[in-house]
Amino acid sequence: MERCSLIAPAKINLYLEIIGDRPDGFHELAMVMQSVDLVDRIDLHSISTDTIRVRCSHPGVPSDRSNLAYRAARLMAERFPETFANLGGVEIHIDKQIPIAAGLAGGSANAAAVLVGLNLLWKLGLTQPELQELAAELGSDIPFCISGGTALATGRGEKISPLPNMEGLHVVLGKFRNLAVSTPWAYKTFRERFSHQYITDKAEQAERHREVHAGPMVSALFKHDREKIGRLLYNDLEKIVLPEFPDVAKLREAMAEPEVLGAMMSGSGPTVFALTDTEEKACRVRDAVRAKILDEELDLWVTKFFPTGISTVDGV
Ligand code: ATP
Repeated sequence: MERCSLIAPAKINLYLEIIGDRPDGFHELAMVMQSVDLVDRIDLHSISTDTIRVRCSHPGVPSDRSNLAYRAARLMAERFPETFANLGGVEIHIDKQIPIAAGLAGGSANAAAVLVGLNLLWKLGLTQPELQELAAELGSDIPFCISGGTALATGRGEKISPLPNMEGLHVVLGKFRNLAVSTPWAYKTFRERFSHQYITDKAEQAERHREVHAGPMVSALFKHDREKIGRLLYNDLEKIVLPEFPDVAKLREAMAEPEVLGAMMSGSGPTVFALTDTEEKACRVRDAVRAKILDEELDLWVTKFFPTGISTVDGV
């Protein structure tokens, strides 16, 4: 095999709770993650020279060593030097549909696709847990992006427990093109304002994880209770991002149409999403938001829950 094409879906957070600090400087989190059908396509081609090249259809994405897809390929080359020496380098082409710096884990999804793709291209035979262990070295959201679907993510986000897939939920996504929120800034500011509320004891942190696992959002997912899922959407980072970015707060308010099950900011934003139980309702919400916010910078998508993480494109 000399080439491989993959689909890399974006994610939204249905639940994001910051539990406390960790000795490694990250935060201890409890999140419910959900893949959505807004995807980048990643094409990998073997090349005879021992280089890793990245090209991306979006001019705002770096094509140098800072690209997460590059870093994923570099990590694989370092871990499997003989294979890299024998089979040569790789050219990575990213067809970018996921907006960047949006709280939708686009870069992480690209890195996840490169790990899965090189495992196939280089016939390494790594299992999904093995790939997820490598992924955790690159970034906290990448292990989830590999398996995708619906999952609880704990630790710094890298410990994944799959949850039942929710079929039939539709998503309206909204993002102002000219707005980007830095994830490190959002977490740092949260720490400055709310660290007095953190759970500091390790055993108590573990207990809080168990509580979330047995809690109302996970239970609503097991019961496929769409209304409850909509009502229980939660994101601690809204406390930081909404006051600082009034446009995001305005968009969230505009999304809270009577027909939606719930609306919330995803991750560290600035993307806001609304959930509906039919595609028709999602389209009506999109149109209503478009009518309320007359701003050419506002991009809106109608999409739906996606049941998997990285998958190969059939026949390639
Ligand atoms: P998260 O939800 O994980 O915080 P995000 O959706 O907010 O992610 P990304 O789209 O992953 O943010 O991009 C964040 C930054 O990373 C961008 O500003 C971009 O410069 C850089 N970046 C590096 N590699 C990529 C990539 N393959 N795709 C998009 N951005 C990338």
